[in-house]
Order: sequence, then C-alpha cells, then structure tokens
Amino acid sequence: PLDKDDLGRSTWGFLHSMASYYPDKPTRRQAEDMSKFFNIFSQFYPCEPCALDFQEDIKKHPPKTDSRDHLAQWLCERHNTVNRKLGKPLFDCSKIHERWRDGWKD
Ligand code: FAD
Repeated sequence: PLDKDDLGRSTWGFLHSMASYYPDKPTRRQAEDMSKFFNIFSQFYPCEPCALDFQEDIKKHPPKTDSRDHLAQWLCERHNTVNRKLGKPLFDCSKIHERWRDGWKD
C-alpha cells in the first residue's frame, strides 16, 4: 500500500495538474461537475484524518470552478492550508502554472 506521504504527493500531482488543464472558460456543467468532484473526493480520500480536515476546509472555502486560474489558485491555497498544518513551507501560488503546466523557467 501507499503510505500517507506517497499518497499525498501523488494526489497533489494529479489534483494540481487537473486544475492547470481545466478550461479557461468552463461551461456551467463543467463548473458544477468540478465542484461535485471535490466534494466527492473529500469523502473518499483514503486517509481519514486528512479527509475529515479537507472536508471542513472546503466547506469554509468552496471550490472556485468558474475559470482555470481561479481553480488553480483555490487549490494552491487549500494545499498551503495543509502545508501550514504540517509545518511545511508555503508555496508561492503565483508560480502554480509554472510548476504544474508550463515547466520552470530558468
Ligand atoms: P507535498 O505537500 O505532497 O507536495 C508535492 C509538491 O507539490 C511539492 O514538492 C511542491 O513542488 C508542490 N507544492 C507544495 N505546496 C503546493 C501548493 N500549495 N500548491 C501547489 N503545489 C504545491 N498529510 C498529513 O500528514 N496530514 C494530513 O492531514 C494531510 N492531509 C492531506 C489532504 C489532502 C487533500 C492531500 C492530497 C494530502 C494530505 N496530506 C496530509 C499529505 C501531505 O499534504 C503531503 O502530500 C505529504 O506530507 C508529502 O509532502 P511533501 O513534502 O512530499 O510534498
């Protein structure tokens, strides 16, 4: 089985990549489905304490699914909330597409 950290790294990779490739101008249906995705995801994420805290967090901060940039920034903030809880450095959310879509500029 994946341990909590491997599961977390893989999952964040998937979630941030998905947000970085979400449409700039989603249809109403896509926006609703993406909100549902995160609500359902938070119920079944296979680390119970992680899932419970994430459910609370997205209740306070519902998914921003009206554009790619809003979704990517929203998710970056959610990840930073977990980083803060775990005492990890916070990520600079202005670099989100560089990290997860375009590749680092050098
Ligand atoms: P990760 O935090 O896994 O990050 C992977 C990479 O993402 C980093 O190397 C960095 O390049 C990039 N990154 C970092 N921060 C951001 C950001 N804000 N936005 C975009 N990219 C970023 N673990 C627990 O112990 N307790 C929990 O309650 C918990 N809850 C979790 C909830 C969710 C929804 C998920 C997906 C994971 C959770 N985890 C939890 C796992 C935890 O977040 C980490 O994945 C794990 O500790 C491994 O950390 P890491 O240092 O390898 O980097």
